[in-house]
Amino acid sequence: MEENISISNLNDFIFCPRSIYFQNLYKKYDKHLYHNKVQTSGKNAHKSIDSKNYSSKKSILQGIDVYSEELGLIGKIDLFDQESKTLIERKNKIKRIYDGYYLQLYAQYYCLIEMGFEVNNLKFYSISDNKSYPVKIPEINEKNYLKHIIHKMRTFDLTNKDFKQNRNKCEKCIYRELCDYYDE
Ligand code: SF4
Repeated sequence: MEENISISNLNDFIFCPRSIYFQNLYKKYDKHLYHNKVQTSGKNAHKSIDSKNYSSKKSILQGIDVYSEELGLIGKIDLFDQESKTLIERKNKIKRIYDGYYLQLYAQYYCLIEMGFEVNNLKFYSISDNKSYPVKIPEINEKNYLKHIIHKMRTFDLTNKDFKQNRNKCEKCIYRELCDYYDE
């Protein structure tokens, strides 16, 4: 049986496939040791999800576990408003919506659908500047793209010598001191 893919790893994989290796290797250590400022503030933005104190409104589901057998995905959603049937992913500050953000939201959407929820709206919410970014419900192309990335994650080989790093990304990568592909 194939191992399930964690929804939270999708964005990291898009950033750099090798970063997943370091993330899994070091996740048992205190995250403050290697999280940069941006990621730490992002984590803090999500603390209210983990402690489930964002809203007392009964229609809001927060931080619930979700699963898709079809796609082999597990993870958590951020917020789902059952009244408006809106799935919301909050980020600390959204300057640009990256492919990885979309994939995470699509993955959460397909999990909820498979679990029997009706989801009619998707959106990102940027906390620090109070901006919302509606997202179209994914269709077959988006689902196929998600499946393609999941397949790439399952088959990625860390020892593949054909891997080419993106130097701009390496400069921003929190694992760069650990990675053979980073040279200053
Ligand atoms: S340093 Fe570069 S190649 Fe290594 S994990 Fe980070 S982004 Fe990827």
